[in-house]
Amino acid sequence: MATVSEALENLRERIHRACIRSGRRPGEVALMGVSKFHGLPLIEEAWEAGLRLFGENRVQEASKKFGDFKSRRPGTELHMIGSLQRNKAKVAVSLFDCIQSLDRDELVTELGVLTANRERPLPVLLELNAGEESKGGYPDEEALFRATETILLRKGLQIRGLMTMAPLTDDIPRIRRAFRSLVRVRDQLAAAFPGCDWSCLSMGMSGDFEIAVEEGSTLVRIGTALFGERDP
Ligand SMILES: *Cc1c(COP(=O)(O)O)cnc(C)c1O
Repeated sequence: MATVSEALENLRERIHRACIRSGRRPGEVALMGVSKFHGLPLIEEAWEAGLRLFGENRVQEASKKFGDFKSRRPGTELHMIGSLQRNKAKVAVSLFDCIQSLDRDELVTELGVLTANRERPLPVLLELNAGEESKGGYPDEEALFRATETILLRKGLQIRGLMTMAPLTDDIPRIRRAFRSLVRVRDQLAAAFPGCDWSCLSMGMSGDFEIAVEEGSTLVRIGTALFGERDP
């Protein structure tokens, strides 16, 4: 098994190559380390190797690991990428720099109330459900349109783009289609709501990030290929 810093180097190179072959600038794609189920030593190692963007999918675990880490390591950016329960939303808004998994209206309401008096609004991504296997996300573009209208009424929330998880399959054309539909929906939302920032397309994980980059991803979320296998 490679060290975290070797794995990081290798991932950056693969992202770079995927950018070049699809005519994109390598600087357009951010790399997130998904550190769920991994302890602080590996997170420290990644930080030492230059990684600043991390993703977690459970509030409690993220708080335990990053609450202190973030104050010791200024410049660390932490995103919520897992399904967020309403009763954890209060902790979440003070811990995370972005909620990528905004996936239902009741969560918009909850987060909207909790962030109403913030000085700087909380960045959010709207999650699109791209396949029958994945649980989270708004079901279709119509739901995303309506969610956008609701979010626009919330001063404490700021849309930054969209997130999706491709279906877990070896069927590459199917994965590619899932990423393409996120791009298409983003283009439609950007046309309908030109005042919002739709620049972030969070798509691509360890098994499919090169396809995601070829299709226009601006943020890949990498767990296993960076930190190794997780204990279930
Ligand atoms: C776990 C997780 C990832 C990372 O998955 P890997 O396949 O280990 O890279 C990315 N996105 C989300 C939403 C996740 O839950």
